Amino acid sequence: MPLTTQHKRQPHQAMPETAQRDEDAAQLPLHHIGESGLDSETAYELISSELLLDGQARLNLATFVTTYMPATAGRLMAETADKNMIDKDEYPQTAEIESRCVNILSSFWNSPDHEQATGCSTTGSSEACMLGGLALKWRWRERMRKAGKPTDRPNMVMGINVQVCWEKFCRYWDVEPRQVPMEGDRFHLGADEAVALCDENTIGVVAILGSTFDGSYEPIKDIAAALDKLEREKGIYVPMHVDAASGGFVAPVLQPDLEWDFRIERVQSINASGHKYGLVYPGVGWAVWRNEEALPRDLVFDVNYLGGHMPTFALNFSRPGSEVIAQYYMFTTLGRDGYRRVMQGAQDVARYLADEIAKIGSYRLVSHGDDLPVFAFGLAPEVQNYSVFDVSDRLRQRGWLVPAYSFPSNRQDLSVLRIVVRAGMTREMADHLLDYLREQTKFLESLDAPLPHPDDSKRKAFSHN
Ligand SMILES: *Cc1c(COP(=O)(O)O)cnc(C)c1O
Repeated sequence: MPLTTQHKRQPHQAMPETAQRDEDAAQLPLHHIGESGLDSETAYELISSELLLDGQARLNLATFVTTYMPATAGRLMAETADKNMIDKDEYPQTAEIESRCVNILSSFWNSPDHEQATGCSTTGSSEACMLGGLALKWRWRERMRKAGKPTDRPNMVMGINVQVCWEKFCRYWDVEPRQVPMEGDRFHLGADEAVALCDENTIGVVAILGSTFDGSYEPIKDIAAALDKLEREKGIYVPMHVDAASGGFVAPVLQPDLEWDFRIERVQSINASGHKYGLVYPGVGWAVWRNEEALPRDLVFDVNYLGGHMPTFALNFSRPGSEVIAQYYMFTTLGRDGYRRVMQGAQDVARYLADEIAKIGSYRLVSHGDDLPVFAFGLAPEVQNYSVFDVSDRLRQRGWLVPAYSFPSNRQDLSVLRIVVRAGMTREMADHLLDYLREQTKFLESLDAPLPHPDDSKRKAFSHN
């Protein structure tokens, strides 16, 4: 649902004059459908010309979402765009490929063989998080009913750095969000702080493998251990869901010894975005539960609408099969080694950028790209005449999208720039960015008075994706 308002009727004028015929110009409406259509070539020219106004995807260092895939992957996706993921009867092979991907991911996430992990593809991590949260809520309600206790006040514990999808989950499904604020140099959820907010109405703790604010991993093993202790001492069972939107594809190859996944018994479910470090164009995500008990049966629908019986757990119904097929293509063509190579390449570039930016002198690193290949940096305390927002603006003049934003409570005093290094960002591109950043920083340092900031309030609205 695009949240747009009504526009006045205007003609569409995006097309170069050379490609435009006069009779077309007269009948190109922008906000309502034309009485008659244009021929396909003209319509193609019109729309592709207009889209040139979008940013250059590969210079976008703001997003985690994949902006580069090999050309063959693009071809495979175009060839499979007509497959409907839900229609498992018509496209059984696509369904089989989805199920192989779930198996690949559950072994990526160290699911013990005896557990029989189960899972599904989604449109992204947001949908996967909704499903993970629903399973937690259903299980909590069942536990409370069995104990003869009220089920009207569920809550969920998380860091204030969660992605907006968890706030959505809580609002849409009537769960009280309990958020742990940042404090000092702790920019994400801490174990003691999480447990302090838990009680018998806590449906679960969400821990993030790869905070969008600074790329850091939350201490999942410590949080689990603290929840073990809570259970031992007070008899309160609180399960965990890991939001590994980005880290789910990074940690298994870059930090294989880090225990954050199904090796930890308390971790009941994990989500990841296939379209982030899974290296697929948007929209594909994954949700995996550690075993059948972790996914209540009455959330799963048996669909026989299109012929054949299929269990499904999803918020959507129809959606393209091509992203799931592209995910399988990436697993097939890269293998574990290939994912390791790509992630290591991204991390090398991230660390190189972080080191070089630290050397400029005007910046202070908040993180260094050691967890996700993502890092944030603020200004040195002595900088007075410009802000991170000015730096972001100046980088944008050359097409580099490096967002600036303020941290949430209790570190609203801290404003940073963030760089997300993805596949496709080469060392050479990094050098271009560094040259430009050094040059612009020099300019900003040469100012003898502060830059004016007419609309700082608007600048804080940055959606972490
Ligand atoms: C990106 C992100 C999400 C949302 O993922 P989509 O795939 O864009 O829906 C949720 N959680 C975290 C930690 C993220 O980084």
